[in-house]
Amino acid sequence: MSDLPEPFKIKMVERIKLHPREKREALIRQAGYNVFMLKAEDVFIDLLTDSGTSAMSDEQWAGMMATTQAYAGSESYYSLEKAMKDIFGFKYFIPVHQGRAAENILFSTMLFPGSYVPNNMHFDTTEANVLRNKGIPVNLVVEEAYDTQKILPFKGNMDVSKLEAFIKEKTPEKIPLIMVTITNNSAGGQPVSMQNIREVSEIAQKYGIPFFIDACRFAENCFFIKQREEGYQNKSVKEIAREIFSYADGCTFSGKKEALTNIGGMLCTNIEELYEKFKNLAITIEGFITYGGLACRELEAMAIGLYEAIDEEYQAYRHRQIEYLAKLLRDEGVPIVEPPGGHAVYIDAKRFLPHIPPEEFPGQALVVQLYIEAGVRAVEIGSSCFGKVDEKTGKFVPARMELVRLSIPRRTYTDNHLRYVAKSLIKLYKEREQIRGLRRVYAPRLLGHFTAKFEPIN
Ligand SMILES: *Cc1c(COP(=O)(O)O)cnc(C)c1O
Repeated sequence: MSDLPEPFKIKMVERIKLHPREKREALIRQAGYNVFMLKAEDVFIDLLTDSGTSAMSDEQWAGMMATTQAYAGSESYYSLEKAMKDIFGFKYFIPVHQGRAAENILFSTMLFPGSYVPNNMHFDTTEANVLRNKGIPVNLVVEEAYDTQKILPFKGNMDVSKLEAFIKEKTPEKIPLIMVTITNNSAGGQPVSMQNIREVSEIAQKYGIPFFIDACRFAENCFFIKQREEGYQNKSVKEIAREIFSYADGCTFSGKKEALTNIGGMLCTNIEELYEKFKNLAITIEGFITYGGLACRELEAMAIGLYEAIDEEYQAYRHRQIEYLAKLLRDEGVPIVEPPGGHAVYIDAKRFLPHIPPEEFPGQALVVQLYIEAGVRAVEIGSSCFGKVDEKTGKFVPARMELVRLSIPRRTYTDNHLRYVAKSLIKLYKEREQIRGLRRVYAPRLLGHFTAKFEPIN
């Protein structure tokens, strides 16, 4: 891969500050050992999420300043429509305030009680929105996705034979839509191949089921296809994106990821009848369709950001930076999910802390230690996030994987920041036997990890 430096220079900065260790210990205790409860200003390097944390470009800021602010018919709506049609190629779209609003509108319109939504893997808000609409989310990712050491080019793929067997078992009438998430966030940001998307699309068509893509990180996925899939080396990211979306009936999209903006999203489709329904609901819960619950300037920033996201020099830099962090950790034996994904490096906390059982949240324990050690905020993607309490037996059912995600905000941190993160983690790895588990003392039923509270086990 290219070893060129960042394809940008910095013309505005934000001060960051590292508190003394004792203060970090006090702050994390007050936060109930949950990093979602920390103030951002108390974090030195914030790798909680790549969502809404991108640094915007001078061109985005200029576009935002220049666009009109209007209830109806803002020019920024037309800029975004033009970018969406050019890059995604769908007939209809609705801007929304973020990806989960698109999910809410999609599932409120299409689901019915007891209906199933197969996905390679649901993201947490996607799963919660399916459940809230009385649907049943089903993850049919390839089995290898759960093997954190297996190196495969497209570990995010849907298992198409499982999908077809599932449709036959449940009958197509009970499946209002099929989804594929690119990249597969919950499996470590792993990409999905073009061939897999094509096969899912063929199955969806065969059974007359609409096919939607959760397109949050479509451009990173396209870049992986360009690098790894036969026949795509000489295609542009945009051509690859157009081909992906040509297989789908629509998509949900979070602008907070790959429109390089701090807020925003879209719901797109080719199905006119669905668009009419989406539109009515969007007006009721989001806002008129030419602003979608956003200030018009945000639509302009998304329109410009979409082009910056498909820029191949940008994608090469982005992928190189993720690989840089992965390599620093890998070289010192820190167990990471291999190969690294498109937006984050994931640590396998089960292997990092084998002495902590899932009931004591090894991922969360590592997240807490990393904050105490270095002021770095990561996030647990394990049993705090995806573990369940069986309603009949009251027994805790852990998640299949215990991961810690180090998301890399786009264009925000330099390699020096990442070297500091790696150094801190390597130190913790050497002292790993001293790290203790946590007891969860509070968690709501849905999306529990955002507000859960923990206590250290001594
Ligand atoms: C972030 C994300 C969403 C939800 O988007 P928001 O803008 O955060 O509401 C949905 N799916 C995936 C895969 C995501 O990463």
